[in-house]
Amino acid sequence: MLSHEQTSSVTSNQESNTYPWLSQRAWVEINLSALSYNVKQVLRILSAHTQLMAVVKADAYGHGAVTVAQTALESGASWLGVATVPEGIQLREAGIKAPILILGATHTPEQIHAIAQWKLQPTLISPKQALVFSNTLEAINCKTPLPVHVKLDTGMSRLGTNWQEAAEFVQLVERLPHLTIASIYSHLATADSLDPTTMKQQQQRFEQVIAQLRTVGIEPPCLHLANSAATLSDKALHYHIVRVGLAVYGLYPADHFRLNIDLKPVLQVKARVTQVKTIPPGTGVSYSHQFIASDELRLAVVGIGYADGVPRNLSNKMQVLIRGQRVSQIGTITMDQLMLDVSALPDVQEGEVVTLLGTEGKEQITAEDWANQLNTISWEILCGFKHRLPRVAMT
Ligand SMILES: *Cc1c(COP(=O)(O)O)cnc(C)c1O
Repeated sequence: MLSHEQTSSVTSNQESNTYPWLSQRAWVEINLSALSYNVKQVLRILSAHTQLMAVVKADAYGHGAVTVAQTALESGASWLGVATVPEGIQLREAGIKAPILILGATHTPEQIHAIAQWKLQPTLISPKQALVFSNTLEAINCKTPLPVHVKLDTGMSRLGTNWQEAAEFVQLVERLPHLTIASIYSHLATADSLDPTTMKQQQQRFEQVIAQLRTVGIEPPCLHLANSAATLSDKALHYHIVRVGLAVYGLYPADHFRLNIDLKPVLQVKARVTQVKTIPPGTGVSYSHQFIASDELRLAVVGIGYADGVPRNLSNKMQVLIRGQRVSQIGTITMDQLMLDVSALPDVQEGEVVTLLGTEGKEQITAEDWANQLNTISWEILCGFKHRLPRVAMT
């Protein structure tokens, strides 16, 4: 669980068999220069008093958590955000010293022991949970207070204490032994929308809680509210930390943010042609013959399938890049393989590299393109690539 990282580092993308990963049938390339570029682009729009938290949950959205965390920190991020305790431990085991916020809920004494041991910082969501934290830390005779982050629900209706009860909750946490409030935060539901009404309402509720706290003499040391979309949309949402995931990976939370910042996709998905053949007119391709060749057709088999994270619902709909040209995928995508119509490139060779997501010359296919075709979001596409695909870090 903890050492899933398959990332191997190579220094260049030259076509040779010097590097063992080149013999792979399929792999994910992680462009660390693009990652560093994106981090710096986000930093450019932040004020000096705002820090960047790189959100690296879910194995850094499928990019490989340790490599991404190290590069993001080297490029100017100062915090890391994860979803779970094991995700945090994985970073600590790799020697990462930066503060790590666990965005998800933690409840059990075992989780609390691990949090204290690995110097992770939990999210507190309710009085009951806060008491378990305080009591567990008392039982293990914890000497230094644990920094905790109080999460308010201002309208997302997900994790956190409802904003109406938030001031009371913060005062309770303040009084509990073994805990010290490191920040107060909330999460926005509609920051990617062109209509800011709901977002503004959430921000107002957040501000209202902070004002209430000030009247009872509590000045929160740190506030944060913004995900990628909020970070790109309005400086007034930045506060002391912005929690940025998607933009660090080079994708836009929505189209209208393209004007605000230049980002470069970090992840590319590649696979090799494993066989090339010619099929006569009328030949069916793949399971259930969902594609029938109308003319003679040059067919290439590629060694990647839905078990690697290529959505089967893209069957007969997707395009890939070979030699900088767009080529159509044909027939049902199978577990480990898919087929292409390479009639326009009849001399394609076995072993040639196919780009499923990425850039070749002037052509680019992004996770967003797939998301649009599938009526989902690019976050889900990125998280869908399985560990069977080695992550190859390119500098
Ligand atoms: C995942 C997550 C983020 C990052 O969201 P992006 O839209 O990818 O920037 C920020 N905050 C919280 C609480 C999250 O769960």
